[in-house]
Amino acid sequence: MGKAIGIDLGTTYSVAAIVENRRVHIIQNAEGDRLTPSVYAENADGRIMVGAIARNQASVNPNRTVSSVKRLMGSNARIPVNGRSLSPQEISAHILRKIKVDARRQLGEDISQAVITVPAYFSDAQRRATQEAGKMAGFEIMRIISEPTAAALAYGMNRSDIQHILVWDLGGGTFDVSILEVGDGLFHVRAVNGNTRLGGDDWDARLISHLKQQILHIHDLDIESNACAFQQVKEACERVKRELSVQNESHIFLPLTSGPHHDAIEIEMTISRDVFENLTQDLLNMLIPPTRQALEDAALTPADMDRVILVGGATRMPAVRYLVETLFQQSPDTHLNPDEVVAMGAAIQAGVLNGSVRDVILIDVTPLSLGIETQGGLFTRLISRNTTIPVSAERIFTNAEDNQTVMDFNVLQGEREMAGDNISLGSFELTDIPMLPRGKAHVEVMFEIDVNGILQVSAQELHTGESAGIKIDAVHLLSGDQIDQAVAEAAVHAETDIQRRREIETSIQTNRLIQAAETLLFGTVHRLSKASRREIHMAISAAKTALVSGQFEAMIQTAQGLTIVLNRL
Ligand code: ADP
Ligand code: MG
Repeated sequence: MGKAIGIDLGTTYSVAAIVENRRVHIIQNAEGDRLTPSVYAENADGRIMVGAIARNQASVNPNRTVSSVKRLMGSNARIPVNGRSLSPQEISAHILRKIKVDARRQLGEDISQAVITVPAYFSDAQRRATQEAGKMAGFEIMRIISEPTAAALAYGMNRSDIQHILVWDLGGGTFDVSILEVGDGLFHVRAVNGNTRLGGDDWDARLISHLKQQILHIHDLDIESNACAFQQVKEACERVKRELSVQNESHIFLPLTSGPHHDAIEIEMTISRDVFENLTQDLLNMLIPPTRQALEDAALTPADMDRVILVGGATRMPAVRYLVETLFQQSPDTHLNPDEVVAMGAAIQAGVLNGSVRDVILIDVTPLSLGIETQGGLFTRLISRNTTIPVSAERIFTNAEDNQTVMDFNVLQGEREMAGDNISLGSFELTDIPMLPRGKAHVEVMFEIDVNGILQVSAQELHTGESAGIKIDAVHLLSGDQIDQAVAEAAVHAETDIQRRREIETSIQTNRLIQAAETLLFGTVHRLSKASRREIHMAISAAKTALVSGQFEAMIQTAQGLTIVLNRL
């Protein structure tokens, strides 16, 4: 019996999964990623690129790059690339072919059978086009199933009594609400609604225009006139958005390849979650009407929903989760990765169809969050609890002190906000960091957990390439009771912990702002008027006073004051 995989052929990202030994797991692609951008491109010579490499060159080669082709599936559209014209099926087939080739490489054997998912509202023509794309890629398509159905399958919801389930899917470019009636192995879609022009990309776009203004202001560079710079900023913005889903601020450091006179310029900026949420508040509000309409069409109320499932990478944003909680007065199901859950459901369906899945499927997840200790004794998560393994995550950290040549890394596991309250799994140090002012060294920390639960942590200084690391194989050694206890304790202390974290983060942030303001004041690059200088001076000393007093509210106020003064320049 050959293996069969499940494929979520998404508008922005595609994902493949498989059931092996009663476990569902995501199949990593050739680049080592779990998600493959649904982007197709050709270079001038007709060489084909699919996935991350296609996406990363999109702004510099827009005429030969095709993204979001899913929107055109089932239409007669022809897409011109390099003087030829391709059908949406052909482009999708290229994406599926990469998935097939990567799966063979990863699984060590050719995969011929697949289940592919499509949105619940896809028509027959759109489903047929998807099937055709699968065949062109060399797959035997076992079935085309709806995305919300796949998500419900992954959550094992077909095994219970009849339930009403609401699947809320915010992807990169689309928002879909589906109401399902599920039970006894049957899925019935009662209503669908959404917005085919609203997704995570719109949240990115807000950050991009925010940065565009700042860069224009500070460096006199219009990033939109420079395709390379624009691409870098675009990528940075998506990363910032992702980071702000797990932390309160995100740091941007971008050495742009060319400035107005083809000289190198460095963009450095910190963006807080508050600023991001303000920039995107109206997008969030746009999620409400389609949700209400779907409920109305199904003649159901929020209280009738037995479960709410979150799907789509963009539902990781805390503001989105909070909105769902408010609308439904219940916590949504989120313990499976929202951008992977559809592929997992498709894999389970594939396993059922080829006979390899007969009973309950296990899904291996990290029992507790993993991260490192950062400035102020805070616990900074890199991998959150309940993430399916294998998984990898990386983040860039900077030096907290001037001329710091050694950085200590304490690897921790737990749910508390302070490092000291979590379990230390081991530590290591990175030496030979070049002497640089605070915030100028850039160290990339990488966490990788393999299929066997072995954690490898490494840190690399990006200027010198100097690296160090540690291997930990005890990640899974905690008993179920210990895990429950850790989670329960975190819940008990949640409020005080978060307050503590905010205080520390605020003081770090205030300090940083003071430094930035002083650099500006004493730097020679900026010619400031006397009035501006005085204003900055006053804002700095107010912030310093607040910092010394240790009073939280005062820190917030003076930091805001300082930000306003700096932004007005
Ligand atoms: P698709 O549109 O193909 O269904 P996904 O479900 O993978 O795509 O969602 C992709 C969107 O989710 C992108 O806009 C991506 O930036 C966003 N996203 C992924 N991870 C996060 C995160 N941690 N926080 C916020 N947004 C995220
Ligand atoms: Mg999707």
